[in-house]
Amino acid sequence: MPDRAADGWREIADGVFQRRYQPVDVTVCAIVGADGTAVVDTRCSLAEGRELREHLRQLSAAPVRWVVNTHAHFDHVWGNAEFAAPRQLPPAQFWAHAAAARAMAASRDGAPDDLAFKAELAAESPEWAARMAELVEVVPEHTVRTAHTLDLGDREVRLLHPGRGHTDGDLVLHLPESDTLLVGDLVEESGEPAFGPDSFPLDWAPTLDALLAVTGPGTVLVPGHGDPVDAAFVRAQRDAIRAVADRCAALRAAGVPVGEALAATDDWAFDPSALGRAVERAYAQLDGTLA
Ligand SMILES: [Zn+2]
Repeated sequence: MPDRAADGWREIADGVFQRRYQPVDVTVCAIVGADGTAVVDTRCSLAEGRELREHLRQLSAAPVRWVVNTHAHFDHVWGNAEFAAPRQLPPAQFWAHAAAARAMAASRDGAPDDLAFKAELAAESPEWAARMAELVEVVPEHTVRTAHTLDLGDREVRLLHPGRGHTDGDLVLHLPESDTLLVGDLVEESGEPAFGPDSFPLDWAPTLDALLAVTGPGTVLVPGHGDPVDAAFVRAQRDAIRAVADRCAALRAAGVPVGEALAATDDWAFDPSALGRAVERAYAQLDGTLA
């Protein structure tokens, strides 16, 4: 047995591994089962997916049978093609929430917002230009709306959608026998939770409530960025996310226009420079213009 920790993998439960990768400090997990390995998220590029596949050989000689994407964001999915034909034969089965698969298909098919984002990344550095030049987007063919169980032979992995939050397609992996949850970007440890243009600020705290309902004092939760955390950490982050939503609702109720909300108070639970989208999206949800 190789020394997995020295290789960069951290065994967080029996046969469940976590590893942090640059750029963007994304966390990848692997679950080793009797019938093969399930990989959770695939990093930012084809080359990084290839390196990930090499690293997975440190854990098991068995092929990667399942790839689960926790959501559609580039840093979690752009290594997918390394586990699909023709680069891997037989190819892995790809799983995601239905909304995440829809977003990934839109990106693959050249949606204007996605094209603009890719052009922005390519302009950032020669490294990013190289990543974008070889990009092949693989969209999961297996989708989940509320729940589905994957059978890895000797263990079951429950795929759950506890609700909207970071996106409308966040998928969580629950390993009840290991008391472990892989939660993607619904929780972040190495940075603040990211409210992007596809986030649902008013739904996020209730979604974390649903997640916390299946945790106990010993539960290990693995965020999409950073190290594993416990339920107390998630409760604190949920409270901060709820405070952002409540603050938006109070400012709107007081008649503060959306464009003035951020500057109207210095009492935000997170760095206000990263909350522009949170305010926009919360107001839109309250206005009813964002269903
Ligand atoms: Zn994300």
